[in-house]
Amino acid sequence: MEGPSIVKVVLMMMTVALSGAVPTILTSEEDLAKAQDYLSHYFSEVGVTTRSETWRAGLDSFTDTLKLMQEFFGLEVTGQLDTNTMEMMLQPRCGFPDLNTFKHAHFDGQPKWEKNVITYRITEYTPDLSQSFVDATLAKALQIYSDVVPLDFKQIQSGTADIMIKFKAHEHGDFAPFDGEGGVLAHAFSPGGGKGGDTHFDEDETWSLTSTGTNLFLVAAHEFGHALGLSHSKVQTALMYPTYKYINTEGYVLPDDDRQGVQALYGVRSSTKPTINPAPKPQPEPEPGPTKGPEAEPAQEPDRCSSNLIFDAATGIQGQLYFFKGSHFWKRSSNWDGVTTRVINSVWSGINKVDAAYEYKARNTVVLIEGDHYWQVKRNTVLPGFPKPLSDFGLPSSVTKVDAAVHVPFVGRTLFFVKNKYWSYNERRGRMDRRNPRLIRTELPGIGYRVDAALEYRGYLFFSYGSRQTQYNYIRRRAVRTLMSSDWMDCD
Ligand SMILES: [Zn+2]
Ligand SMILES: [Zn+2]
Repeated sequence: MEGPSIVKVVLMMMTVALSGAVPTILTSEEDLAKAQDYLSHYFSEVGVTTRSETWRAGLDSFTDTLKLMQEFFGLEVTGQLDTNTMEMMLQPRCGFPDLNTFKHAHFDGQPKWEKNVITYRITEYTPDLSQSFVDATLAKALQIYSDVVPLDFKQIQSGTADIMIKFKAHEHGDFAPFDGEGGVLAHAFSPGGGKGGDTHFDEDETWSLTSTGTNLFLVAAHEFGHALGLSHSKVQTALMYPTYKYINTEGYVLPDDDRQGVQALYGVRSSTKPTINPAPKPQPEPEPGPTKGPEAEPAQEPDRCSSNLIFDAATGIQGQLYFFKGSHFWKRSSNWDGVTTRVINSVWSGINKVDAAYEYKARNTVVLIEGDHYWQVKRNTVLPGFPKPLSDFGLPSSVTKVDAAVHVPFVGRTLFFVKNKYWSYNERRGRMDRRNPRLIRTELPGIGYRVDAALEYRGYLFFSYGSRQTQYNYIRRRAVRTLMSSDWMDCD
């Protein structure tokens, strides 16, 4: 029998103390230090990449980071360390950060394997299970992915594999030492060379194939998600939810949220291949002179430098900014090296106009809305099954056009603007918040009465109405400054 573990004892004490109780605020130095440590592990800005830079402007304190954590786990967002929050921090979990800082990030977004056969090798086994059981369990954990995406996995016994796997306690050569029994159970690296894809299991856990100890299949399936490029999900039923919870593994199939994530990266297995859109043709110069008849107008490129420029929609997509107008969009690259113009339909086939758009980074998808329906797109691909009706979000059927939409990552909410009101949608729970719709003027003071286009950029929200735009601090509910829509367009 193993000796009692401190983590377990603490967990048990917390459970007893908390059952049915109203949360109390924790103020001791020790608790605050523990929370600080947790936040710096899982919600930190260390290793800043394009994604976490977004947070820098808004997240400058313990309180703000704590709110982010509380929102992620669906706790009450108070910014105060209470017993409920501490209980969540003590749950056994994966060591991968929740606030994604892609280690191998490039501007194109999430890292993925650029081949279809991926090798793996187990260099150190656990004594808790026989080697053949470990082999079979890990193969099964990989198979739930190869069932749904066109990837195949091949175990090798020597040399360097794409995914190197080991069971090891404490320090094990990657500056992310394990913490003994409980706490962190395992971790994995995003796809890439070197340690990319490598998957480590904490040998201080008792690995099992049942509900006792820590179930190897469930943890491995989660970690292999990271090794293939998935990040943590806020969906509690998702495999990629960060904390461990045993469920029956018999006949296990990848949950929808994770399947959509991995298929967005690698495509769908053995069904019709998504059509690759042809490279967009260069756009002809706009016709000079006032010859625009009503039929010619939609195809004509609007003047991005007009002082009366009014956007239909705007959004960030993987660090680049997209502004929609008529049948065109402008893309402002993350290196600030100019603006390119495209016809919407040439990039996302079947979409001719966009009224509202937002990026949901947690799923690495973008939602484009026109009229009473919407599409989900991933890079240049429109995901299968779209368009779908806006009522999917819980918007009333009387809403047949959305003026603007923006996702506020800090609180995990998407705001849909319709005339002088907006609806607040909880992405993690997949449902509308209570108390909808809300008046723009009273709930978001400082931006006026209406919104034509909205986007989130580096921790701020930008609300356009007409040709003017307000830079907005959502946390403090305060306008920061006013600018012109054309200020983004590189015009003199
Ligand atoms: Zn994880
Ligand atoms: Zn490791």
